[in-house]
Amino acid sequence: MYCPFCNANDTKVTDSRLMSEGNQVRRRRECLICKERFTTYEIAELALPRIVKRDGRRDSFNENKLRAGIMRALEKRPVSSEQVENAMAHIIHKARARGEREIASAQIGEWVMAELRGLDQVAYVRFASVYRSFQDIKEFSDEISRLENQKIEDMTVK
Ligand SMILES: [Zn+2]
Repeated sequence: MYCPFCNANDTKVTDSRLMSEGNQVRRRRECLICKERFTTYEIAELALPRIVKRDGRRDSFNENKLRAGIMRALEKRPVSSEQVENAMAHIIHKARARGEREIASAQIGEWVMAELRGLDQVAYVRFASVYRSFQDIKEFSDEISRLENQKIEDMTVK
């Protein structure tokens, strides 16, 4: 860390504390050369894996694009922004927890579908229809009956 006053890079941390939700650290530093003190705010930026598309092209992980895809499926559905952000957080957590440099877009798609299935079944079918590019109405009805069966299973579990 360079001193903002004299540009020396001999600075020492005199105090360190966690801010907000624990992903930001406020540090008091002191320059060992000019003795000036200053504060830095450091944010833990955990790298997200790159996305490998179906055709093999690579793309950077784009949160906005992911959110836009989820929102499109949820258009006019009774799901709050908070629920969307929770779903986003789950997906991002999974992507990071993998600990790999690259991840297949198909895997992200599966995770989105898993989240949507829990949030809103209409949105889930919308997303799945685009994502899996359903060829005809039969695939739609197959997916819907799969959902129905699952509901029955869920009920019997409870
Ligand atoms: Zn200095």
